[in-house]
Amino acid sequence: MSNVPVAVVTGANKGIGFAIVKALCKQFPGDVYLTARDPGRGQEAVAKLQKEGLHPLFHQLDIDDLQSIRALRDFLKEKYGGLNVLVNNAGIAFKVHDTTPFAVQAEVTLKTNFFGTRNVCTELLPLMKSYGKVVNVSSMVSSSALGGCSQELQQKFRSDTITEDELVGLMTKFVEDTKKSVHEKEGWPNTAYGVSKIGVTVLSRIQARMLNEKRKGDHILLNACCPGWVRTDMAGPQATKSPDEGAETPVYLALLPSDADGPHGQFVSNKTVRPW
Ligand code: NAP
Repeated sequence: MSNVPVAVVTGANKGIGFAIVKALCKQFPGDVYLTARDPGRGQEAVAKLQKEGLHPLFHQLDIDDLQSIRALRDFLKEKYGGLNVLVNNAGIAFKVHDTTPFAVQAEVTLKTNFFGTRNVCTELLPLMKSYGKVVNVSSMVSSSALGGCSQELQQKFRSDTITEDELVGLMTKFVEDTKKSVHEKEGWPNTAYGVSKIGVTVLSRIQARMLNEKRKGDHILLNACCPGWVRTDMAGPQATKSPDEGAETPVYLALLPSDADGPHGQFVSNKTVRPW
């Protein structure tokens, strides 16, 4: 078994994930795994970084596929005996003018951004080594979408006692409400992406609380963040930040020094803790 520290980035064949891997290859003292759902696109991305003199490793990971997540889990357990850095970056967004019915957008978006990210956490968080770092890439849109929720929902999502099961129940209810066209009546905002990212931010707060309760002595720091508005296939060419700039906050959280006791369980943008 290797004693080398190991970092994993999801959805890293392009965009912000690719830039995070690039930065980690330069700054993280260990093996860095570029993961992608499509091995061809993943290997191509690895080759691109190799041309820059960097040495990422590759592992397939489709966060929508539990078997794929478990294969990565078993690989990490066997080869490294755990994991030091996990960046949950993979995500999707329908374009604003996409005419796919809203209920379908809700189901597909929540499936990857919330349920897929949660499944990765369920399988990989138990592998996190002491002083490990977990970064869940959310979005400022989670904050604006929270503001668009009913008072009752806002209270639930801001609660310091909400459980993971309750959060899963709420995310499932959103998808069901869109299918019945009652989501606005039920207090939801009209954004599937926004609700999926509320899920990611609240999940991060819950997971950090669980780490405090169950693994306090392990000094693991877990946060949600927004990369900013970044020029990628998702956000388009008008966005203000380059992918390398978008990687800065996630990489800052992934590389917090071992003597740092925070941020933990926070929502961070531009390397600054934001109120939730
Ligand atoms: P992007 O260029 O579209 O890249 C998304 C990445 O996620 C791609 O590598 C994609 O792989 C991967 N992915 C999607 N579904 C996946 C799955 N089921 N399993 C594994 N990988 C999957 O988007 P981006 O702008 O870099 O976004 C990265 C993250 O930042 C997302 O979580 C996004 O919500 C968040 N974010 C972005 C912005 C922004 O302005 N760009 C702002 C706030 C937050 P494929 O190539 O195979 O599709």
